[in-house]
Amino acid sequence: MNEYPVIFARCGGYDPALLGETLDRMISALSLPEDFFRGKRVLLKPNLVLAKKPEQAATTHPAMISALAEILFSRGAESVTLADSPGGPYSAAAFAHTCRVCGMDTVDSRVKLNDDFTFRQINTDGVRLKSFRMISAALDADVIVDVCKFKSHGLTGMSCAVKNLFGLIPGLEKFEMHSAFPELSDFSEMLVDLCGTVIREKPFLALCDGILSMEGNGPTHGTPVETGFLLCSRDPFALDILAEHMMERDGTVLHLDAAAKRGLCPRDWKEIAVFDTEGQKVDNPPTFPLAYPDADAGHFLRNLPNFMGGRFSEHFRPRPRIMKDKCAGCGRCAESCPRHTIEMVTKGRRKLARIHPEKCIRCWCCQELCPIGAVGVKQNPIIKLIH
Ligand code: SF4
Ligand code: SF4
Repeated sequence: MNEYPVIFARCGGYDPALLGETLDRMISALSLPEDFFRGKRVLLKPNLVLAKKPEQAATTHPAMISALAEILFSRGAESVTLADSPGGPYSAAAFAHTCRVCGMDTVDSRVKLNDDFTFRQINTDGVRLKSFRMISAALDADVIVDVCKFKSHGLTGMSCAVKNLFGLIPGLEKFEMHSAFPELSDFSEMLVDLCGTVIREKPFLALCDGILSMEGNGPTHGTPVETGFLLCSRDPFALDILAEHMMERDGTVLHLDAAAKRGLCPRDWKEIAVFDTEGQKVDNPPTFPLAYPDADAGHFLRNLPNFMGGRFSEHFRPRPRIMKDKCAGCGRCAESCPRHTIEMVTKGRRKLARIHPEKCIRCWCCQELCPIGAVGVKQNPIIKLIH
């Protein structure tokens, strides 16, 4: 447990020289084996959840990718490929569009944007997952570098190193995962299975872009907030335990509970070895109390007395609602709903999405993938009153 430390560094912006120098010091501080990158095909796995501009803070900043490419090639990497399966179909056209909007078409020209949209099944001995399909770009890489974002997340509470690996599941299969694991506790176990498999299969490094972060309605429609730091570790669970603390959400993220129960990480950030780039122990990392997403009532329900937060919590959980005045009728939410519970209806000359709530599992895929933020949150009136 806690075999690898987490390196913390302040970094005030995406200036290429500052970023490159800071990342280089952080990676050096990990004392990686000499041949960790040498002669290797390295996969960079950014967070490209939705086609959003870098300043919207939903996606990994392209400057991170360029700075990393320089470092990896200087350490002898044979090739560096950038791959992800954003929400929606896993196709060349969808990936190219997302890369363009996210600024990934401007990164160091030596970085290859993934052009292999195949995927393969792998077997694993997870608690929930026995086999799953993963994008070939990850399976064919020698080293995986998880370049995640410090973000709030409507379903899982937080998106950082562990959750970012869900993007290795190809396209629409992610919706099937949501459907197969409708309870957050099961979904969280699945995330730990997936992450555990990746780090067992490949040499792995996680880097967290916490320079411009997202609070509130993440992972795609929250508010950017300047936090000015980077984290780096070979252990995604340790990195996330620290990140959870830095968001001031200690003990709230279920997939970290699951990982700790399996002995994959401590549950208390104080048991994580945190160092700066000079090798000095960081006893008091800064914290940034990120606003919770409207969809995440879990933190609140868990603190209610048992008779309210316990077996009735299902009743009190928020539900998605379509903001009719905003909805552009594009149908993206209906395509991404794992339970096919969103219908496109015609109202006069407009098309609108309509949710049939009976089958809704509150996975929040519709909210996450609506390109214009037209899926809101309907709170239970009692909870609204108490909260
Ligand atoms: S709610 Fe959003 S994703 Fe759904 S149809 Fe309306 S605009 Fe499109
Ligand atoms: S309506 Fe939205 S939250 Fe409900 S199951 Fe469909 S995608 Fe998930």
